[in-house]
Amino acid sequence: MIEFSPWPQDLVRHYRDAGYWIDQPLTQILDAQLAANPQAEALICGSRRFSYADLDRQSRNLAARLARQGLGHGDTALVQLPNVAEFFVVFFALMRIGVVPVNALYSHRRLELAEYARQIAPRLVVASRGHELFRDDAFADELRAKGVAHLLLLDEDDPAQSLAHWLTHAGDLPQGAAPTPADQVAFFQLSGGSTGTPKLIPRTHNDYDYSIRASVRICGVTSATRFLCALPAAHNFTMSSPGTLGVFHAGGTVVMAPSPEPLACFDIVARERVSMAPLVPPAVALWLRAVEEDPARRSLLASLDLMLVGGASFAEATARRVPELLGCRLQQVFGMAEGLVNYTRLDDSPEVIFTTQGRPISPDDEVLILDEDGHEVPDGTPGALATRGPYTFRGYYRSPEHNAQAFDAKGFYHSGDVVVRQGGNLRVVGRIKDQINRGGEKIAAEEIENLLVRHPDITHAALVAAPDAHLGEKSCAFLVLRDGAGKLSPPPLRRHLLELGVAEYKLPDRFRFLPELPLTAVGKIDKRRLRDSLAAETA
Ligand code: AMP
Repeated sequence: MIEFSPWPQDLVRHYRDAGYWIDQPLTQILDAQLAANPQAEALICGSRRFSYADLDRQSRNLAARLARQGLGHGDTALVQLPNVAEFFVVFFALMRIGVVPVNALYSHRRLELAEYARQIAPRLVVASRGHELFRDDAFADELRAKGVAHLLLLDEDDPAQSLAHWLTHAGDLPQGAAPTPADQVAFFQLSGGSTGTPKLIPRTHNDYDYSIRASVRICGVTSATRFLCALPAAHNFTMSSPGTLGVFHAGGTVVMAPSPEPLACFDIVARERVSMAPLVPPAVALWLRAVEEDPARRSLLASLDLMLVGGASFAEATARRVPELLGCRLQQVFGMAEGLVNYTRLDDSPEVIFTTQGRPISPDDEVLILDEDGHEVPDGTPGALATRGPYTFRGYYRSPEHNAQAFDAKGFYHSGDVVVRQGGNLRVVGRIKDQINRGGEKIAAEEIENLLVRHPDITHAALVAAPDAHLGEKSCAFLVLRDGAGKLSPPPLRRHLLELGVAEYKLPDRFRFLPELPLTAVGKIDKRRLRDSLAAETA
């Protein structure tokens, strides 16, 4: 079994008694539909259509082959796929035999993948020949040298490692192959991170399944729902809030799109009669602009009933334009891969829907809003969010030092968000974690600072958020150069980071050079002053 920090026994009992944890593996989502409505349309990916029976058959075929190769409980897998149907086939296949995956984002590169592999020591890697890392065999060979026994690739010619080949019939699942127990780790979610290395979040079947079932009710997902999966499929928002898994749970249809780019998505929405779409704020802005530019495009969105917006701050003025211009309802989501998810409710007043990020899923989500001394603040006063509950994790994977900072003695997870409670709903007003939220894509400042100072001419680096009209925030690196170093320009600096293998969205958008970094009274880098200097530049 994969180790994780469990909930205390009294809460475990309570979560079961209250009906949150029902001790069913995530595979039950598929099994239930297979029993109820096998021919219903589960998944659309370009011209390919999958019924629930198709999805089940393909995932069983893959599971059977993997199990025959000896993969099962105790094993992990590193998966990196674009937004294609195979993402779900692989996910359910791994769930069936109790192999615990990390689903890396497709934008991740060598640095992230190597770090995940270091942490979980996978026996299996599933990836795509279309990704730069797997275009040749160099990275795959490195992974093999570190213990990866099986590599399966999308768009691969060699049958021995072709994912498509492994999805063809392979006989039944061997006896004994089964999901991990429902109270054990099902898979790892990715943390947005605020530390030097990316962290992994163990999610159990019980806790994840509860968040999905409850989200399905709150978001009104039914078998008639046609759900656009245009954000990265591996992201927690896309998977579970209510997400693709929520749609499968309700027997609806997931429609894949390669990205949230408006014109391509509008065509998909019209063609497949999409009714529900989760988006991050910058994508919403692009959709709004596309309709403003050509109001006739609105008719392409006629089937769209509900847009869910989350992942980053959503300006009230933009929120108000969603129903007006796109003709659909809005639901705001404030969630985190670590657990806690808040939604505005479908029957909330327009005021609540436009101005807040809603309230928690569960009556047993405990949310504290704390001042600097750790005391709860009154409603209307901003404070740091701390939470625990039936689907909020209890510790990052193998990160005792970081867990000691992220959790308090009572098991509350301190998310680093600054929120205000007003009339029972939360509003996200800021952040104390050292992270940049670049339109929903999270960048841990420390990770990039560590990479920048590996440049021979850089002695100190500080990465901070700069306000941006489109993305909400962009990143700016403040650098101190070694004495005698010549001028450095952005292109070689970005090249330096790319050569270290970091994902492109983490590259600083701007660079500033200083003789030294400003320090606070206690000698820490004064990031507030750096941010203020950027704001002054913009003004
Ligand atoms: P992730 O785990 O990548 O989903 O990121 C979770 C973090 O994204 C939260 O802790 C917040 O900092 C941020 N976030 C998510 N939703 C919202 C929202 N609606 N408004 C502001 N920030 C958000």
